[in-house]
Amino acid sequence: MHFSFFNKKLVTFIAKLYNLKVMIKPKILLSRCFNEPVRYNGSSVLDKVVEKLKPFIDPVYVCPEVEIGLGIPRSKIILIKEKNRKKFFQVETGKDLTVKFLEFINQLKPILEKVEGAILKSRSPSCGVGSTKLYYNGVIIGKTDGLLAESIKLNFPELPLEDEERLKNPEIYHHFLVRIFSLAEWKNFLKNASPSKLVSFHNSYKFLLKTYNKELFKKLEHLVVKKDLDLKEKLLLYESLFKKAISKKPSKIQHLNTLYYLANYFTRKLNSKEKRYILNLLKKFKRNQIRLETLLSVFKNLAFRFEDNYLLSQKYLQPFPEVLY
Ligand code: SF4
Repeated sequence: MHFSFFNKKLVTFIAKLYNLKVMIKPKILLSRCFNEPVRYNGSSVLDKVVEKLKPFIDPVYVCPEVEIGLGIPRSKIILIKEKNRKKFFQVETGKDLTVKFLEFINQLKPILEKVEGAILKSRSPSCGVGSTKLYYNGVIIGKTDGLLAESIKLNFPELPLEDEERLKNPEIYHHFLVRIFSLAEWKNFLKNASPSKLVSFHNSYKFLLKTYNKELFKKLEHLVVKKDLDLKEKLLLYESLFKKAISKKPSKIQHLNTLYYLANYFTRKLNSKEKRYILNLLKKFKRNQIRLETLLSVFKNLAFRFEDNYLLSQKYLQPFPEVLY
């Protein structure tokens, strides 16, 4: 897999600039055309969201079409619907490259096992996530996943996977970042795991897990204090429930339950103007007039003001670096 040395140096420089030495960076598979001119027409893609994320992640760039030996530039590929499969077809040469492509995806599996997420280029027959044109008898019959995205969904269903277009939606963006940074934290925790550290890890995710999935949160609560399991078994089980718990984007109501709880938590410490201000913000969030991050910052500020270390330790209040809000 290709990884540009220059880019690595640039990322390190930016990270230093933002004083990010202690930050845990999620390892993310990125379509290589976000970094280099490897597209079929010899161009690259400059995407605002991806550029913003780059200094905060550890990118692994891959271009399946270049990896299987198609040159740059190359003639266009399309996906054609055949009975039970999709054909990866190069129109100009008449080549069916499906088998070659699937062989490459198999080689990619060890890398996919190591990453916390993937951001792929939309609309591509290889990379698109639900946005690629599907042809049948020379006519477009709908949108589908590119072959790489399809394989990720099939073989790594819990791996956070988005394309740059979907990440423009603030809710999808927030959820994706929560997942990749939480998974990176988990991986980092595993390096020195111990029963007491598992309790601390779990405690810091309490509000977040409770918001995302109450049922699995309760299971995780029980699991952490369970005595008849050794640490290895516990960690395996915890990991699978944790990944599942954060896999689904919570609804506005789920967030509001937690946010109202936080408002009540501070209620005795605030004056009437402050209370009114916060209730007003909650109403605005309900009506989609402000973003979740605004409220998270307000509550985090209150936690600082009242030196509430328990709340300050909650990942829900800052699940990823604030500069990415
Ligand atoms: S979309 Fe995927 S296959 Fe196409 S150029 Fe980008 S990385 Fe390569």
